[in-house]
Amino acid sequence: MSSIEAQGQSAAAPSPRPQVAARFDVAVVGGGPSGLASAILAARAGFSTALVAPLGQWDDARTTALLAGSMTMLERMGLAEAVAAKGQMLRVMRLVDDTGRLIRAPEVAFESSEIGLPTFGYNIANIDLNTILLDAARATAGLTLIDAKLDQASTGEAATTLTLDDGRVLTARLIVGADGRKSKCRDAAGIDVRQWTYPQAAMVMNLACAAPHDDISTEFHGRNGPFVLVPLPGNRISIVLVEAPATIERLNGLDDAALARELETRAHSLLGRFTIEGRRQVYPLSAMTARTFGRNRVALVGEAAHVFPPIGAQGLNLGLRDGATLGDLLDKAGKAGEDPGGGAMLAAYDRARAIDINSRTATVDTVNRALLSEHLPAQVARGFGLWAAKSIPPLRRLMMREGMVPTFATPRLMRGTVPR
Ligand SMILES: Cc1cc2nc3c(=O)[nH]c(=O)nc-3n(C[C@H](O)[C@H](O)[C@H](O)COP(=O)(O)OP(=O)(O)OC[C@H]3O[C@@H](n4cnc5c(N)ncnc54)[C@H](O)[C@@H]3O)c2cc1C
Repeated sequence: MSSIEAQGQSAAAPSPRPQVAARFDVAVVGGGPSGLASAILAARAGFSTALVAPLGQWDDARTTALLAGSMTMLERMGLAEAVAAKGQMLRVMRLVDDTGRLIRAPEVAFESSEIGLPTFGYNIANIDLNTILLDAARATAGLTLIDAKLDQASTGEAATTLTLDDGRVLTARLIVGADGRKSKCRDAAGIDVRQWTYPQAAMVMNLACAAPHDDISTEFHGRNGPFVLVPLPGNRISIVLVEAPATIERLNGLDDAALARELETRAHSLLGRFTIEGRRQVYPLSAMTARTFGRNRVALVGEAAHVFPPIGAQGLNLGLRDGATLGDLLDKAGKAGEDPGGGAMLAAYDRARAIDINSRTATVDTVNRALLSEHLPAQVARGFGLWAAKSIPPLRRLMMREGMVPTFATPRLMRGTVPR
């Protein structure tokens, strides 16, 4: 039987007698980075908060490029130093057209110094980021960590009821659904989604390389998707290779030495010889957007709200903006003595997140489709876009700033990230 680790408060231990539900203002479901950050911020807003998740069990070999807005947020949460110590700074982001097509885009390199930043952000293993956030969650007053999974949630007029997989029952005025793409919280709130797939899969792993990366992240754009090399501490990188599923299956069948050789060829030996470290993981590529981000006492954050292909390091950075925006609104609700899961609160959350989520999803979708398209007009448009990004300085700076954090949807914890 799992235990309840209490920080700010405790909940009743399971007993054979009929249970009295433990009551919280907010229950966050899901212990990935979006859920952990949201739970800390909900508790800091003064609401009694439960985090329901299989604690510390992450089957995740990915790394995340945390961009400047996310780093500002983590700094204000007192966590940036720990992230920087485990991660690697990203000073330059380079895009290389490797399609071999007739019309090719020029190579573009963005430098963080162009927008007055020492770095675009830090690349860190998801497991290291989650561990830092979980340690912070354990130390947060008013946050109770519950090591279990949500089995079922039902939403009611005044509160929601959560039944956990060990039989315990909780009630909360607000559920924060951070339980990933197959969110049970989203289903419980009756929130519909728009979803589609791509003829692509992504393979991720970490590599040691012979040559230094010089804090430069390189994204090769191939005919079937990007191949991204992102710096890690030392002469190491993480890679995301997006390809046709059959190619990924073939590559995954190779032994480490053969796969390292093939990856080195795809990287044009830019960083010398590769040696594979640790395990590989494969993700079929799909996209999903919830039709609303808050309804029936449920607010959705992270991949419970939006999923899209790994292009431009946007997914989790968007998820952290969800958590930070929800934190802002909870802060306001707490000070005004308002219901954290009330209709007004959820409508405000939905309004605050809609443009950011929908515009990032559309941009990533367009870039990905333009890459896959064999049609000349799409290739011309892509080439022109990258030429403009290379040659028009104000446009370059705008793209960099907006890539870090959007001007129109900046949560309080991320304000002032980029000098204007
Ligand atoms: C190949 C690849 C590379 C990427 N690279 C980047 C990048 O560089 N930068 C970036 O910003 N984004 C990146 N992303 C996106 C990013 O990885 C995701 O956005 C992020 O991991 C989502 O975090 P999350 O907390 O929302 O969901 P998850 O990490 O999926 O966490 C969901 C959690 O919910 C838990 N859960 C599920 N069901 C239940 C339940 N019933 N009860 C309790 N808990 C439950 C799960 O155990 C899990 O821990 C990448 C994605 C891919 C596929």
